[in-house]
Amino acid sequence: MNNEEIINSIINSFHENNNSHAFLIETNNINACYQDIINIIKKVNCKNGTIDDCNVCHTIDAGTNPDIITVRPEKKEINVEPIDNILAQFMTQPLISKYSMYVICEADLLNQTAANSILKFLEEPEEGIVGFFITNRYSSMLPTISSRCEHIIMRYGNNSILDLLDINEEEYDSYYNFTKNIIECLNSDQSYERLAKVSSITAKEREDILKIFKLVYKIYVIKFENIVNNNYNNLEYAQELLGLIKTEDVSILTKRIKLLEEFLNDYRLNVNKDLFVNKLFMVWE
Ligand SMILES: [Zn+2]
Repeated sequence: MNNEEIINSIINSFHENNNSHAFLIETNNINACYQDIINIIKKVNCKNGTIDDCNVCHTIDAGTNPDIITVRPEKKEINVEPIDNILAQFMTQPLISKYSMYVICEADLLNQTAANSILKFLEEPEEGIVGFFITNRYSSMLPTISSRCEHIIMRYGNNSILDLLDINEEEYDSYYNFTKNIIECLNSDQSYERLAKVSSITAKEREDILKIFKLVYKIYVIKFENIVNNNYNNLEYAQELLGLIKTEDVSILTKRIKLLEEFLNDYRLNVNKDLFVNKLFMVWE
């Protein structure tokens, strides 16, 4: 499932009254994930069932909704005080929202006392109180918490291949065709076919070859991540290039990424650069 599908299924679970009382969301981007969680919270609490100009949505946006509480770490730790505030605030029914909801960002940083305190909600869940724990270090989560939550994974890609590569649009356009050729040629099982391509590389392309291969490398990494995470990043610019990599075999992709990594590392140091490109195309599999 992609993030949008995950978000919709969470929202639906509230509409169908079979929602979890606690979610643990594993992510690679705390801020982007937090925004998505806030949007879920708005959708399930909004007076009109959709994001609207109601006072519930307004106060959530302003951070003043008494029923929706966010806790973030201070000095790399989440102490018991903000957790006890949630417990106190949620002793009574929600004041203006449908649910009482808390969000704990970087929940792996809850200290032992704070974790014990929040366990009260997790061990004896109360109708109408829902928690969202967000972490980018899932393996550091206390098992007493993670075992009592619905585990969800939400990953975020960068918005643009240009940001990833740190190149501008003009450079990208000028490398695009060559990059495309390289990826297509690397699909070939035949080393002589691959080597024929090397000989057609122009002087200008040779100058930029490090940047071009960095682009090829990134495309392979994104392809790999998409398959492993079963999450198709909506990358501007990259879709066509991603489609050119024909294999979806994770072990083959891993091997190729490693070869490209070695190539990029060694190429900078190597004196005979042409020979080096030949070598990559020879050992490619
Ligand atoms: Zn609203």
